Amino acid sequence: MICDQVAPILNEILQKNGLKITYEPEITPDQIKQRISDFNIIIVRSRTRITKEMIDLASKCKIIARVGVGLDNIDVDAAKAKGIKVINAVEGAMNAVAELVMGLMLSMARDIPRADREIRNGKWLKKELMGIELSGKYLGIVGLGNIGKRLARLGRAFNMNIIGYDVIPIPDDFAREIGLIKADIDTLMSSADFISFHVPLTETTNHLVNAERISKMKKNVFLVNTSRGEIIDEESLYNALKEGKIAGAALDVFEKEPAIGNKLTTLPNVVCTPHIGAQTKEAQALAANVIGEKIVMILRGVI
Ligand code: NAD
Repeated sequence: MICDQVAPILNEILQKNGLKITYEPEITPDQIKQRISDFNIIIVRSRTRITKEMIDLASKCKIIARVGVGLDNIDVDAAKAKGIKVINAVEGAMNAVAELVMGLMLSMARDIPRADREIRNGKWLKKELMGIELSGKYLGIVGLGNIGKRLARLGRAFNMNIIGYDVIPIPDDFAREIGLIKADIDTLMSSADFISFHVPLTETTNHLVNAERISKMKKNVFLVNTSRGEIIDEESLYNALKEGKIAGAALDVFEKEPAIGNKLTTLPNVVCTPHIGAQTKEAQALAANVIGEKIVMILRGVI
C-alpha cells in the first residue's frame, strides 16, 4: 500500500516485478489502522506517520519504505522489534535540498522576496535594497552527510569559505578538495556569516540551536534550516530575529507543519518555504526509483 503521493515510476517498477499495488495517497491514520493488516509493504513519503499502534496491527508487514531521507515519521524501533525492514532513499534529495539552500541564501542576501512583493505593490525600492554577496563569506555547515557535502561544493562554487562540523569525522580528502575548515560547533556558530543545518532529528539535535547558542552568533548572521523544524528552538529564534540579534533566517521546515499562522512567518527578516527541500521532479523520481529497486532487491533476497 502506497500511503502518500509518489512519482509514478515507483508503481511502474513494482508492477513490472509482479507486485499488486493499492495506491491511497489521501488515506487517513484511522483508515491505515483499519487496513494495514492486509499489506506486506507500506510505502510513505512525508504526510503519513507510521506509529507503533499501526505497526502493532501490521501483522503481514515485512517492509516499511520512506520515499525520502528522514525516518522521523516512522517508529523505526517498533518496526525493528517486529522484524520489519525500514528503508529510505538517502540519495534522492541531496542536490535538490542543497540547491534550495543556495536559493534561500541568495534570497536573504539580496532580499529577493521583499523586492518581488514590493514591486507588485507599486514600490521601486532600489536604494533600500542594498544587499550583500555570498562570495568571500563564511558558510558554516552543521552535518556533513549527503546534503551537507553537496552544499559545501555549491558554496565553494560561489567562492564561499566553508566551515564544517559533524559528529563523525569529516573525510580529509573531502576537506582538502573543498578547502573546508573543520571546527567544533560553537566555533562554527560564532564565526560563520551563514549557517545551514543538515542533521537528522534526534534527541541530541532537538533544539541544537537554542537561546544560548544564538547569543554567541554574529549579529549579521543568516541561518538556514532545511533539515527539521525541531533542530531550532523557534521561540528563541523568533526573539533573536525580532530584537535584531541576528540578521535573518530562511526556513523550509518548522516545529509544527503546516506552519500556517506561525509567528516566525510574520517577521520581515524571515524567508519561508513550505517544506519543499526535496520537491523537485528530479529528486522525487530518483527517490521513487531507489525505493522501487530496493524493494525488489529485498524480495529477491539480494539485500
Ligand atoms: P545524512 O544522514 O547523509 O547526513 C546527516 C549528517 O548529520 C551525518 O553526517 C551525521 O553524522 C550528522 N550528524 C548527526 N547528528 C549530528 C549532530 N548532533 N551534530 C552534527 N552532525 C550530526 O542525511 P542528509 O541526506 O544529508 O539529510 C540531512 C537531513 O535533512 C535529514 O535527516 C532530513 O531530516 C533533512 N531533509 C530535509 C528535506 C526537506 O525537504 N527539507 C529533504 C531531505 C532531507
